[in-house]
Amino acid sequence: MSDTEHTSEFEPGEPNATDGHEAVDVFGDAEEFDLRPGADSCYKCSSCDTSCPVAEVDDDFPGPKFQGPEQWRLTQTDEDFEVDESVMSCSNCMRCDDACPSGVPLSQMHNTTRGRYVDEQMSKFSVEYWRNRILANYRTSAFFASKVPRLANVAMNFGPARWLMEKTMGITSQREFPAFATETFREWWASEGAAAGSRERARENRERRGEDPDADKKVAYFHGCYANYNTPEVGKAMISLFEHFGYEVVVPEQGCSGTPMFANGMLDDARRDAEVNVSSLSDLVDRGYDAICSCTSCSMSLRQEYPELFDFEGTADVAAHTYEAVEYLRIHEDLSGAVAEADVAGELAEEFAYHAPCHARNQGLDRQAVELFRELDGVDVEDVGDSCSGISGTYGWKEEKYDTSMAIGEEMFEHMEGAEGETGMTECPTCAMQMEHGTGYEIRHPLEVLEAALVDGT
Ligand code: SF4
Ligand code: SF4
Repeated sequence: MSDTEHTSEFEPGEPNATDGHEAVDVFGDAEEFDLRPGADSCYKCSSCDTSCPVAEVDDDFPGPKFQGPEQWRLTQTDEDFEVDESVMSCSNCMRCDDACPSGVPLSQMHNTTRGRYVDEQMSKFSVEYWRNRILANYRTSAFFASKVPRLANVAMNFGPARWLMEKTMGITSQREFPAFATETFREWWASEGAAAGSRERARENRERRGEDPDADKKVAYFHGCYANYNTPEVGKAMISLFEHFGYEVVVPEQGCSGTPMFANGMLDDARRDAEVNVSSLSDLVDRGYDAICSCTSCSMSLRQEYPELFDFEGTADVAAHTYEAVEYLRIHEDLSGAVAEADVAGELAEEFAYHAPCHARNQGLDRQAVELFRELDGVDVEDVGDSCSGISGTYGWKEEKYDTSMAIGEEMFEHMEGAEGETGMTECPTCAMQMEHGTGYEIRHPLEVLEAALVDGT
């Protein structure tokens, strides 16, 4: 057969000919669509699903691929689409973000989908809604408890009260409530010349260190709720350490970082506090301050979740100038050199079982404590692996999630018990609760150990 015998009957028409055809408007009015970067980049590899600690222990949880891109696609094409309530079983650990090779903004999708579920589908008269709202607004309960800390500590851990809270509100009675400090961090900061003297102390320390006393070294401390109401010793260690390195510290007005609110779909509450935080921190950023957090979930929130979810003026600047405390000192000071010449004695001369919080992992900070303390005399730090602690803030406090939370934490408990020493270390206050709950160990923050090595030892 010759080539000419292949002559086709087909006659191409004009490009885009519309004769007899209705053009299909695939995307309609683009304004109506949520076309955030990466939203449609999922190619169903399932890497996110295999990294999800909830899916690993709960066969009923459909996993991050379903919660993220699959539900997102349905919301784009079906006006009547109802969000699947399983989105409330995502703990917002954000491990799936790291696992995705395609840049799909999974946790952002979970946050917005969960917000939509709570806004449009969850009954505002349900016990679950009010239980979640109270847990998400921990700062409000902690504020009142901190007015009568001794009474609150006794009352909240009184057996019948815990039983009642479980039966009426669905807050597990299996956990002990963390103790409220008798003096909050902010009360301490406002008294004893702590705030007033920071500039002068920093200047003296710059002189002691042989630095220019007029050098412009200054940071704004975002302490979050827990260091303020429960563990002011962490906040005090942070102040003392930064002043030791010659930084003037200011403590601006602030609300909750929003972490527990995102996890519970309370986006209006998160927006309210984020607006306060961005407003006060962006003023300071404009004046040359960097924002420092001692909690890795707070730094995660300011750096990633705010720019993903909010558009207040200054949000991007605050995100770009926010750091976790140890990370900041590693970048700007010879922290490793200082640690290598120091030693720790006394109660913090310990062998620590270190757990890297999921949110530290997301910021690339999961190895920093282990690497830093390797050279520190008097202290041994053993990494207990990359599993999730399972508590994920408010998640493990819900009666119906308690077993899942403990099943996720099991691997971490085993590795802690297999490590040398019986003291834990982590940067996240709720991971610390879970570590203590699962092993009975006392848990310390890396800043406390650094202060003992570098400040107390000088
Ligand atoms: S944020 Fe954590 S719990 Fe939620 S879907 Fe992703 S990996 Fe699973
Ligand atoms: S890891 Fe990313 S690309 Fe793979 S299934 Fe999950 S969302 Fe899709």
